[in-house]
Amino acid sequence: PAWLGVMGGGQLGRMFAQAAQSMGYQVAVLEPVLEPAATCPAGQVAQRLVHAAYDDVAGLDALAAQCLAVTTEFENVPADSLSRLAERVFVAPNAHGVSVAQDRIAEKRFFVDCAAKSGVLPAPHRVIATQDDIDAIGDDLLPGILKTVRMGYDGKGQFRVRTRDDVRAAFAEMGEVTCLLEKMLPLAYEVSVLTARGVDGQSVVYPIAENVHRDGVLFTTTVPGPNVSDDCAARAQRAAQAMVAELGYVGVLCIEFFVLDDGSLVVNEMAPRPHNSGHYTMDACVTSQFAQQVRAMARLPLGDVRQHSPAVMLNILGDAWFADDSDVACEPAWDQVLALPGACLHLYGKDDPRRGRKMGHLTFIAATLPQAQQRLRDACLILGIAP
Ligand code: ATP
Ligand code: MG
Ligand code: MG
Repeated sequence: PAWLGVMGGGQLGRMFAQAAQSMGYQVAVLEPVLEPAATCPAGQVAQRLVHAAYDDVAGLDALAAQCLAVTTEFENVPADSLSRLAERVFVAPNAHGVSVAQDRIAEKRFFVDCAAKSGVLPAPHRVIATQDDIDAIGDDLLPGILKTVRMGYDGKGQFRVRTRDDVRAAFAEMGEVTCLLEKMLPLAYEVSVLTARGVDGQSVVYPIAENVHRDGVLFTTTVPGPNVSDDCAARAQRAAQAMVAELGYVGVLCIEFFVLDDGSLVVNEMAPRPHNSGHYTMDACVTSQFAQQVRAMARLPLGDVRQHSPAVMLNILGDAWFADDSDVACEPAWDQVLALPGACLHLYGKDDPRRGRKMGHLTFIAATLPQAQQRLRDACLILGIAP
């Protein structure tokens, strides 16, 4: 049987492996963290777990020797490792696409360069590398958000700043490493566009997803988005397709957009992999985002992105295991949740719930969106989550 490889052993690697296996592939996972395989979400399900750093030559070569193709579930995998793999095996996405997406400065530059084709711009921004850069900040960029250039996720590595002095303090707090200051925009709502592009240059776009964040972490994804107009969806789709073509990207990629109070679209960032906001595709679309990644990397035809049911996805964080002020973990009442019609529960096999940790997700599909939303509210009540 043919093997597919994935860099990273988290939940995205797990769901990728499950999709690959259902299509008959064996899966090898490369995961640097030396924890027992039993606690590595992807390691639990993969046929092979390679314990090695992302830049470990022997580990990379082992993956390349075994696999037909390799992908990544972790956006911060060193681009050089993808290049090394690409000398021996087909890699999707490739080092170029990943290196743009993992560096906020390169990403913003790409968005600006692509604007004529995509029709959208990123938020006004400025690189902050020195104190002089702070002195030179125009008033039009404040209030803003100071973001780390690399490794930020779930709103980590961000400081909201109102004044130049705030920027100075935040820059010092970040150890004076190069950052990006973005103007704080008046968001009406947020959407993400999940796309996939094949080696033949053909691309597909899933229905636009509307996302709600809580404490910097994705809380719910609703598709179709209650606020998303046809016009907004068309603009976001067109922008996403222009961007993947411009990148020469192969595989699944998710682009986050802001929709402002005046209806205009601003591109925020992109993830070179299946995305949390695309989890609804597992239960609501003909081809899930993970099956799509398998198809793209195995150079098979891309699958149908049609959504067959309205869907709402809720991230299940470790908080659901803890009553308000208790620190004793207690399994949520899945029996009650699963009694709700249309409930699709996905748990990632993590055996140590902690507050804020992504443990799984729960999608409701129903005949109508209001029904799915009502059942999600019912589930929140059971799980002790404020809806
Ligand atoms: P992710 O987990 O999605 O990778 P991240 O840590 O990379 O998150 P961003 O997506 O850049 O961070 O920002 C997190 C959230 O902060 C956004 O979804 C949005 O709600 C808010 N935000 C970020 N930038 C801006 C901005 N320029 N104006 C207003 N709100 C913003
Ligand atoms: Mg991000
Ligand atoms: Mg984001």
